[in-house]
Amino acid sequence: MKYVIVIPDGCADDPQVSLGGKTPLQAAKKPAMDSAAKLGQVGLSNNVPATLTPASDVATLSLFGYDPLEVYTGRAPLETVAMGIKLNPGDWAIRCNLVNIVDGVMKDFTADHITNDDGRDLIGTLQEKLGGEIKSPSGKVLGVLEFHPGVSYRNILVYRAKEPAPFGKDTKGQPPHDIPDKSVESFLPSGPGSDLLKDLMKKSEALFLEHKVNKKRIAEGHKPATQCWLWGMGVSPTLRKFADIHNVKGAIISAVDLVRGVGMLLGWNRIDVPTATGYLDTDYAAKGRYAIEAIKNHDLVCVHIEAPDEASHEGRVDAKIEALEQIDRHIVGPLMNVLPNYKDWRILVSPDHRTPVQTRAHSHGAVPYVIAGTGIVANGQTAYDEVSAASTSILHAKGHDLMKVFLK
Ligand SMILES: [Zn+2]
Repeated sequence: MKYVIVIPDGCADDPQVSLGGKTPLQAAKKPAMDSAAKLGQVGLSNNVPATLTPASDVATLSLFGYDPLEVYTGRAPLETVAMGIKLNPGDWAIRCNLVNIVDGVMKDFTADHITNDDGRDLIGTLQEKLGGEIKSPSGKVLGVLEFHPGVSYRNILVYRAKEPAPFGKDTKGQPPHDIPDKSVESFLPSGPGSDLLKDLMKKSEALFLEHKVNKKRIAEGHKPATQCWLWGMGVSPTLRKFADIHNVKGAIISAVDLVRGVGMLLGWNRIDVPTATGYLDTDYAAKGRYAIEAIKNHDLVCVHIEAPDEASHEGRVDAKIEALEQIDRHIVGPLMNVLPNYKDWRILVSPDHRTPVQTRAHSHGAVPYVIAGTGIVANGQTAYDEVSAASTSILHAKGHDLMKVFLK
């Protein structure tokens, strides 16, 4: 059996007044996804337990069949896997966004989609001025801080523990993408060890104020990165390999380290598409081609596309519809054409979580999915969207149960 999973990140949404009461999925022209709906089973699945923050980390773990309440330790330790940063027992990884905050308000959690080069330069300054040993008043080394550059605004701080780290499960950070245009004061890190994190954030503000990278950015008409924002902290998780559970050899195609990291942690091969960007300008056709190539020598291929989520974060309904149509035309369509060449095949299309374009933030709640292919009985839907999914009686309250249905 060949299995394909397509994840249009954050595509699930609410009815829009501007679309005459339709959701972006309903409004998008997506013949391939709709043909899967006619062939297969459409339903709802809830990938984010109520006690966890809705985001791709928790939600993809669910989608891949793991109970996040059992295995999730935080976002950053998943990204470090894809970045090639090894965490030892006791070490903590912390997400280090480069952000634009003006007058205490979160204006841009991406610092204007800062370039890799600019980001690397700023993270280099943080490492030089704030990285290194942390000592107790008596001079004992408690830990070592390492700032690691990643892709664009997505960077990592590692706390190498020499003594037990000051953080714990009650150490909380706020995803900056969920507080657009909000005052940041009440969203600063809290709980054990948060004073250290707040201090680093404060110091980064001073270091970035007159930084040459920011002067250049402003001169070029770009927003500066005004400081780093620390969140998503956790220790390394332990997961059973996907192949050990299901005897299925997988591959992951994604442009974002978080989703790559989750896939790699499950033991899937990571396949990079050089022209994929993780943004609205990504090379959809190349992702489709790479998926078709990858399925030749894997049992399962997962293609993740970040673009619909990014469109929601920017509050752009049209861009979201455009992204969904591109995914349908260049990824789901070609896959639906090729898969029947294999004797047994199945496809699953599902977002990880909801990202309503009105709130521009992730939200809890069930998402629509469709499974089609060998042995899947159609359940009478003609379209793949939130409304058709809700009209069926199928709801996987625990999203990780869906993988059992897909692989059965
Ligand atoms: Zn998002």
